[in-house]
Amino acid sequence: MGARLLDGEAVAHSIRQEVAAGVAELLARGKPRPRLVVVLAGENVASQVYVRNKIKACEQVGIDSELVRLEGNLDGGRTLAAVQSLNDRSDVDGILVQLPLPQDADETRILHALDPGKDVDGLHPENVGKLVEGVEGMRPCTPSGIMELLTRSGIAVEGMHAVVVGRSNIVGKPMSMLLLHSNATVTICHSRTRDLAHVARSAEILVVAVGKPAFVTEEFVKPGATVVDVGIHRIVSPGQAEDFFGVSSRQLAALKSGKSVLVGDVHPRRVRPRAGALSPVPGGVGPLTIACLLKNTLQAARVHHGLPAQR
Ligand code: NDP
Repeated sequence: MGARLLDGEAVAHSIRQEVAAGVAELLARGKPRPRLVVVLAGENVASQVYVRNKIKACEQVGIDSELVRLEGNLDGGRTLAAVQSLNDRSDVDGILVQLPLPQDADETRILHALDPGKDVDGLHPENVGKLVEGVEGMRPCTPSGIMELLTRSGIAVEGMHAVVVGRSNIVGKPMSMLLLHSNATVTICHSRTRDLAHVARSAEILVVAVGKPAFVTEEFVKPGATVVDVGIHRIVSPGQAEDFFGVSSRQLAALKSGKSVLVGDVHPRRVRPRAGALSPVPGGVGPLTIACLLKNTLQAARVHHGLPAQR
């Protein structure tokens, strides 16, 4: 018996249907279609794939989208200028600056320049402050998606001990805050945490966002715990596929036939027998990040047109 797999695709599908209905409602009220602009600076190949998926997802729910592509030397403030001009455009409801930005762009300055009402990844300090206060505001997409996954999969959060491994501004910190607002008791771990496996093993809900392939193994997991795997990595060798999924796995076969195979920050073969529930990679957190981006864009459009946000 292995862990129950948390079906991120199914939860994301429900959210996308709700967003499509919300867009139809806006149009029925005579409002324009919501519009999201994605700013992609630099040449990061993974980012190019993520951005393509985001644009495609917009189309599927009736949100207009646009890509602003910035290549070459970025140290002259071109990304900042692009954000400022999008802030000024009244036909734009949401702006997503795809991270990570290249070294030569000043990430903090660019995120701080976003119009907080258009900041659909909730990274502007005004939205971060609202998250900490627990008042209405734009929430980062990945942690919001994880909360949707837990809630809609019937995983109780209130009163549970949740351990979040990772403290990035985009995942770990907002995740911890959302769990806290849902009345979990939260521990945040990072690279300087002593005896991480011991701390992680005390979690009833373990969220892993370390950015290291298959980092979390069974020694980190309390039997029966819910494990949420945020990581996304492309497997590079058959040896890895064999270790992570097993010698007769479909992933190893797929890799050998030249297909691309992904793994998260959690070691699937070693953790699945021990956990009570596990979000798979792919098909766990990834689809929810995009679904929550669509949801945030709809909310931004509603507020932009004087309607209350819907939760
Ligand atoms: P970051 O690299 O920004 O943060 C990683 C965090 O992990 C840091 O806080 C770091 O600690 C901590 N960490 C690193 N090594 C260790 C260690 N040995 N022990 C304990 N903690 C450690 O990553 P992100 O938060 O941006 O992303 C994490 C993962 O999630 C990545 O694989 C990324 O690709 C993926 N991701 C997936 C998304 C999705 O939609 N599914 C969306 C966003 C990210 P310290 O602060 O001390 O350095």
